[in-house]
Amino acid sequence: SRVGDYRILQEAALRDYLAGLPEIAALLGGAPAGWAITEVGDGNLNLVFIVKGNRGGIAVKQALPYVRLVGESWPLPLSRAHYEYLALSRQAELAPGLVPALLHHNETLALTVMELLEPHVIMRKGLVAGTRYPRFVEDITTFMARTLFFTSDLALTAAEKKDAIAAFAGNHALCKITEDLIFTDPYRVAAQNRWTAPYLDGLAASLRDDMELHVAISRLKLKFMASPEGLLHGDLHTGSIMVTEGETRVIDPEFAFYGPMGFDVGAVLANLLMAYFASSGHERAPGERQAFESWVLQTVEKVWNGFARKFLGLWRTEARGDAYPVSLFAGDKGAARLEIERQAYLQRLFTDTVGFAAAKTIRRIFGLAHNIDFELIEDPKSRAISEARAVRLARGMMVEAVAFRTIADVTGAARKLR
Ligand code: ADP
Ligand code: MG
Ligand code: MG
Ligand code: MG
Repeated sequence: SRVGDYRILQEAALRDYLAGLPEIAALLGGAPAGWAITEVGDGNLNLVFIVKGNRGGIAVKQALPYVRLVGESWPLPLSRAHYEYLALSRQAELAPGLVPALLHHNETLALTVMELLEPHVIMRKGLVAGTRYPRFVEDITTFMARTLFFTSDLALTAAEKKDAIAAFAGNHALCKITEDLIFTDPYRVAAQNRWTAPYLDGLAASLRDDMELHVAISRLKLKFMASPEGLLHGDLHTGSIMVTEGETRVIDPEFAFYGPMGFDVGAVLANLLMAYFASSGHERAPGERQAFESWVLQTVEKVWNGFARKFLGLWRTEARGDAYPVSLFAGDKGAARLEIERQAYLQRLFTDTVGFAAAKTIRRIFGLAHNIDFELIEDPKSRAISEARAVRLARGMMVEAVAFRTIADVTGAARKLR
């Protein structure tokens, strides 16, 4: 159907549309007039409705032809809904049970119907409240190891890999948002930047004048643009993860494309580190959140270590790709040398991860899109103290990424700054 058939489905139109989908209508149950429809979108880009009937519920996501956070003055292609659908389908195959089930997709309407996640909450909200999630490490490390490994040249043939890159290459408008908002704007004067003024005015100015930092962020930007290592989620912060104590679901992969693996892993680590630095700002009594804060830092360590272990495990047993041909690593000698090379690969990926984690942190403190970890700290002075600690760590991680040899070097540095 034609692009011109797109229309924004608000409540009444959405009800009619869903009523015309027999499987969805049956899942909801009862007469369409009785369905409860609520818009719950709290993200920056799209509309999300929760629809409940007398039998069941669904979530409906529709892309708008512009950035929701900014308005119609900032157009954004509807095709992102197609890439989100494509990524969700692939992630469902590679990491079953860790993404919401897909129930319906309409490319013309840029609309996707998916499983209603309930009673799951957005992880970031839980972290602000000081909640621990015992299942998270196991699930997020599986999600990242499997989605990244199985979409890489270690698992795919060269032809499969290039076709896969091509399938996502059109999502460049979403990549451009990342390229501008994460890798460029926080380091220059940009109309959309903001920070906790006046406390961080000096730090904001120092970022704009720091050539070592400008080189480091530009190297990361180049790596983001020019390294299609695997299929990235592309926006893997704690606002894109919904959790209960026993379940984890990754949502919102509209930024998906083939990029450097460290960008996804770094996103998870950065958002945990920001939860750590913000935590003191949410205390009602000093020291109240100590146990939570140690859990967060332990989680940072376990996320990297668990990811690395699972990724290495997949490489040892599931490598069917054209990279590292078996014929070049024959016998015990070959096996031993290849194992050393696997460790070296993971060490390079760790360095990338450290740098990308730093980039994801700085953009949340000086760029357009902030996060509630810091924003919900009411006292601006207290918020600025938490943010400045995170920035101090991030600046070091970006400029001297190789000095962080292990994840314990990162958590050790974070602990010293608290
Ligand atoms: P955006 O791309 O605009 O950020 P998201 O996909 O992140 O949109 O969804 C926005 C919000 O909608 C989420 O923060 C969450 O609260 C809610 N949401 C999204 N998908 C689901 C779902 N499958 N079940 C329940 N709530 C959901
Ligand atoms: Mg979102
Ligand atoms: Mg968002
Ligand atoms: Mg989104």
